[in-house]
Amino acid sequence: MFDVIIAGCGPTGAMLAAELRLHDVRVLVLERETTPASFVRIVGLHIRSLELMAMRGLLERILPHGRQRPAAGFFAAIAKPVPKGLDSAYAYLLGIPQPVIVEVLEEHAIDLGAQVRRGAAVAGIEQDDEGVTVELADGERLRSRYLVGCDGGRSTVRKLLGVGFPGEPARTETLMGEMEVGAPQVEIAAKVAEISQTHRPFWLRPFGNGVYSVVVPAAGVSDRQVPPTLADFQQQLRAIAGTDFGVHSPRWLSRFGDATRLAERYRVGRVLLAGDAAHIHPPIGGQGLNLGIQDAVNLGWKLAAQVRGWAPETLLDTYQGERRPVAEDVLDNTRAQTELLSAAPGPQAVRRLLTELMDFDEVNRHLIEKITAVGIRYDFGPGPDLLGRRLRDITVKQGNLYDLLHRGRGLLLDRTERLTVGGWSDRVDEIADPSADLDVPAVLMRPDGHVAWIGDDQRDLDDHLSRWFGTPTD
Ligand SMILES: Cc1cc2nc3c(=O)[nH]c(=O)nc-3n(C[C@H](O)[C@H](O)[C@H](O)COP(=O)(O)OP(=O)(O)OC[C@H]3O[C@@H](n4cnc5c(N)ncnc54)[C@H](O)[C@@H]3O)c2cc1C
Repeated sequence: MFDVIIAGCGPTGAMLAAELRLHDVRVLVLERETTPASFVRIVGLHIRSLELMAMRGLLERILPHGRQRPAAGFFAAIAKPVPKGLDSAYAYLLGIPQPVIVEVLEEHAIDLGAQVRRGAAVAGIEQDDEGVTVELADGERLRSRYLVGCDGGRSTVRKLLGVGFPGEPARTETLMGEMEVGAPQVEIAAKVAEISQTHRPFWLRPFGNGVYSVVVPAAGVSDRQVPPTLADFQQQLRAIAGTDFGVHSPRWLSRFGDATRLAERYRVGRVLLAGDAAHIHPPIGGQGLNLGIQDAVNLGWKLAAQVRGWAPETLLDTYQGERRPVAEDVLDNTRAQTELLSAAPGPQAVRRLLTELMDFDEVNRHLIEKITAVGIRYDFGPGPDLLGRRLRDITVKQGNLYDLLHRGRGLLLDRTERLTVGGWSDRVDEIADPSADLDVPAVLMRPDGHVAWIGDDQRDLDDHLSRWFGTPTD
């Protein structure tokens, strides 16, 4: 009997397993594939995900594998400078191969005590009042108290639950791959600048060592059931640019659509959904993996609290309450970005107008904060603007604030030196630091780094500790 079984060891499943292990929850991750994914899709880790990595002590393990780039130019690929005043110690984009992220997160989960079984595909589920029975494709049956489907966009768990996945089917398909390019860089850059004015999606972006990321429309490339070939890329490049730029030696080639869908519910009884299993959208802006990791950090401590028995009654349902609107917003911004990439005259006119508007720093910053998820504010009721937002990494007398969050516990940061977490000290840490770089007397942070309370009154603090962390121990 496990406490939690997770279906799928992608970035979402691996992160969730680690978050649960921080609270000693017995976790089994079931992964259908026998070996980790071999294709090397370079994805971008955005500011909020980098902050989460720092909050769990993982940033040093990840940084050497990636390339830091400016936190700019990724809203509909409109080239603009980094907005002023991005309020983060990690205000950059980290380009990094997706398999490296999965490997680091899986290792981290295993180091913390999670079990991962590969070659184990979830094929059936039944739930009752006490738990969930999970049936594998080979007929083996396993039992746990909760199950989380982190099994990707075609989620078996979501289908078995009968949860609807409404939205729009793919309208256009795109080829994307990484390959070496024979033509000289200057020639490529000039041609790409010219063509990308009229043809979208289209790019050749250098990754170094002669390797380029190549994106071309898939329209005209025959059977979508068959994986694309180098010849397909050459054909599309010639059709658009009049040359195939001498592309050769592909690292990986893929085809993806712009389907946009959101699960109707994130929870049915003891079974929950997270990551692509709950939401899919076009990759423009590079948000899917980030969203999944952030789902995992939101859900982890709440599900752990439920398992350990101290969760307030409605805590687990705040997962859907908080995360589904965030996914809705991401779906919307990818819809908007997709329109802005259309070569039709109307969307092109809107694009020109938005390009002008983004010269206003506030507009530019708003859009970048949206994509990088630092602009998220959960609705915790009325209060100062900081309430419900994540607190940036600030310096406190012990060092960096985020270093104090590695164990995934709540934290009271108290400048008044009068407050205490009292009977919640088994779940919530406290530091008194009058010199902390805060413009409020004290904050209570949840394990996901969001501000759950602001004030200076002990009784009010106790009410909020109860709201988020249940009944105190004597
Ligand atoms: C071209 C492209 C570029 C992208 N670029 C970015 C980017 O820059 N930034 C970004 O944030 N996102 C990006 N994304 C999106 C990102 O890749 C996904 O959002 C991310 O992989 C979702 O992670 P996940 O763990 O939820 O699901 P997945 O990565 O799909 O993992 C699901 C796992 O579940 C396993 N599984 C499936 N069924 C079962 C079953 N029945 N039982 C057990 N295991 C099962 C699968 O084998 C897989 O390992 C991009 C996507 C594409 C297509």
